[in-house]
Amino acid sequence: AGAIVTIGEILVEIMAVEKGNGFLAPQPLIGPFASGAPAIFIDQVGRLGHPAAIVSAVGDDDFGRLNLARLREDGVDVSAVAIHPGAATGSAFVRYRPDGARDFVFNIRDSASGRIDLDSEALAVLAQAGHLHFTGSSLGIPAILGIAERAVDIVKSRGGTVSFDPNVRKELLGDPGFRRALEAVMAATDILLPSGDELHLIAGVEDEAEAVRSLLARGVAEIVLKRGAGGASHFDRTGRTDAPGFVVEEIDPTGAGDCFGATYLVCRRQGMPVAEALRYANAAGARTVTVKGPMEGTSGFAVLDAFIATTKGAGA
Ligand code: ADP
Repeated sequence: AGAIVTIGEILVEIMAVEKGNGFLAPQPLIGPFASGAPAIFIDQVGRLGHPAAIVSAVGDDDFGRLNLARLREDGVDVSAVAIHPGAATGSAFVRYRPDGARDFVFNIRDSASGRIDLDSEALAVLAQAGHLHFTGSSLGIPAILGIAERAVDIVKSRGGTVSFDPNVRKELLGDPGFRRALEAVMAATDILLPSGDELHLIAGVEDEAEAVRSLLARGVAEIVLKRGAGGASHFDRTGRTDAPGFVVEEIDPTGAGDCFGATYLVCRRQGMPVAEALRYANAAGARTVTVKGPMEGTSGFAVLDAFIATTKGAGA
């Protein structure tokens, strides 16, 4: 069947211990945590025991080593993560405001992730891929924009499939290069994994049912709409399946969508029906929000089975 492969940024996240506004004064921080939406996604694929690989780049520094060690430990093939001695591994500082919104300081575009390319290791990994996953945040990085189309062509020409989690930052939508890559990825997308208003943003239509119809007509085979605490809905040509969320206390929502998507894809590739795949994906997303740290809530099937058996919601 081939590995699940993703292309995208690897970084560390450092977070403020206390809520407040921004980073305008010294304050207690916690981290570094392994992070980057594509890295969280692929770590979850590896944790579930499915062949997994990431095409990325880090600096020759401890932030890079921390990420590589973590991905390796969880079963991810990191042979296509280039180590650039001249660049630093990316970072993101995050602080929650009292109202739940977040302030960020990003160093990603100018980090090693800004130098990701299709070198021989990346091509070797793509040649083994049965499925290629993109995260919207990665398309904000010009280096990745530049290789997305070619990577899609390589995987599709071998009969592979493509998924896309369009966590796009709205300010990028006006950029012509970004729009072109977005269209290229969308044109190849078999499974779309939007959350919140991303469905409307991508379809350009406000009404949910109409947006779904228009995307299915454009060739997307499956749409899996993430609804936060409300769980998820699945749409394809045969109809609609809703799956309720699990009842948990939200500590840190970062990574929920990535873990959800990874789990849905692995379950489907293992032959599970949609409803069962949604239950595992909702469990993976819900468990993630109960754990502090972007990648700290990834979980294998044994942990998910125990979570489902003991958590109120779709399971118990
Ligand atoms: P994203 O992280 O991509 O914005 P969501 O916030 O919808 O997407 O979260 C993805 C999935 O994680 C949801 O579909 C759900 O399964 C789970 N999830 C997220 N937040 C919660 C929550 N507060 N309670 C229970 N499950 C949650």
